[in-house]
Amino acid sequence: MLDAGADVVHFDVMDNHYVPNLTIGPMVCDALRKHGVKNDIDVHLMVQPVDQMIGDFAKAGASYITFHPEATKHVDRSLSLIRNEGCKSGLVLTPSTSLDYLRYVMDKVDIILLMSVNPGFGGQSFIPSTLTKLKEARKLIDASGFDIRLQVDGGVSPANIQSIAEAGADMFVAGSAILKNPRTKDAYAETIKGMRGELAKAKV
Ligand code: ZN
Repeated sequence: MLDAGADVVHFDVMDNHYVPNLTIGPMVCDALRKHGVKNDIDVHLMVQPVDQMIGDFAKAGASYITFHPEATKHVDRSLSLIRNEGCKSGLVLTPSTSLDYLRYVMDKVDIILLMSVNPGFGGQSFIPSTLTKLKEARKLIDASGFDIRLQVDGGVSPANIQSIAEAGADMFVAGSAILKNPRTKDAYAETIKGMRGELAKAKV
């Protein structure tokens, strides 16, 4: 399926502790690799604590590992752990979490993920204030001079992806936009194509 369009596999890990839901762990990530998935796997940890999971997912073949600053006692240490394991590191900010968390760790992140819904469940609507926050995050990244991706997760669809890109995002997570449609290769390819078409219109 992946050859039909998406570049990266976004992997949502929920623990029924940091977020009120339960999904998948490192064994499933490992199984994807053994199945032959070559794309980058972007592991979004919604777990508490995080440090043990960093090592487990690095061994399971993760490419990126991101976590929520509220879920770890020592953000700088957790970010360093990810890079020491040979993965790309990142922080995830929920809609109400301040960009200030990034202030002293810009040299330790490869990716900043802004959540445009509250973490825990699929199918939620995009929270509009995320656009303002994306613009602020884009300014931070540009001022830092570091090569950092700006990712958005939650409620992204063909209808809003252009405005999200114009606000500064360069990496887009799509769940329901793809999965609500019939789960066929054609429907998937059509949705991704639609989103890429909208992205091409973005003035950035
Ligand atoms: Zn996610």
